[in-house]
Amino acid sequence: QVAFDGVHKWYGDVPVVHDLTLGVGAGEFLTLLGPSGSGKTTTLRVLAGLEAVTSGEIRLAGRTITDEAPERRNIGLVFQNYALFPHMTVAQNVAFPLRARRAAGIGARVDRALEMTRLTALRERYPRQLSGGQQQRVALARAFVFDPAVLLMDEPLGALDRNLRDHMRLELKALQRRVGATVVYVTHDQEEALAMSDRVGVMHRGVLQQTASPEEIYERPVNSFVARFLGQSV
Ligand code: ATP
Repeated sequence: QVAFDGVHKWYGDVPVVHDLTLGVGAGEFLTLLGPSGSGKTTTLRVLAGLEAVTSGEIRLAGRTITDEAPERRNIGLVFQNYALFPHMTVAQNVAFPLRARRAAGIGARVDRALEMTRLTALRERYPRQLSGGQQQRVALARAFVFDPAVLLMDEPLGALDRNLRDHMRLELKALQRRVGATVVYVTHDQEEALAMSDRVGVMHRGVLQQTASPEEIYERPVNSFVARFLGQSV
């Protein structure tokens, strides 16, 4: 579904992502894990088209998207500060990406997204009238509503407290399975990565060190960085 082929990203003369080659299958949940500054967010940003690559190629469902504008890529985004529009209701927030794309059948699609995220009863509320978890669910509904080919999530649960985070983790995973979404997820929380992902890719200083199933990467780390990083808090 997604393929990075020899992707490099430099900011000025600083290499941030180095020679990234990585495939993500349809319906797969892949997590990029690594310490702060290892290039995880930058990887998502070049995939979403928010930053241009310095060299290399990115494909989505077989199509080269390296030079395509973000809005043409059919990629959904959920970030930690989920940036809901404060002056819009829940339903209006969720409808926004559809209106921006002049999509058809907006009402029915919004209803479905709200139902999926259990927000139907809250549809007329404003963001300030919602809890953190509820706001997070609005951000999810807004990302799912236009059936993106891929959903990118950057520490989407980072702003929530521990209990809520554990709960939302299960909920997010169940939703992803139900709709068969392809997800590229970013976190620096080892436990979260191992619990949620089909595969985990560990990054360090812009270099993808290893990509494998949670079991394999935990039991057979390819180098001492991966071993140490996973050993820290699991
Ligand atoms: P974190 O977990 O802290 O978000 P990360 O692994 O997502 O870290 P990135 O945000 O991708 O890391 O950043 C990688 C490196 O690129 C960092 O050293 C950062 O300072 C640098 N960087 C990111 N954005 C820019 C920019 N716009 N201009 C210059 N340098 C940048």
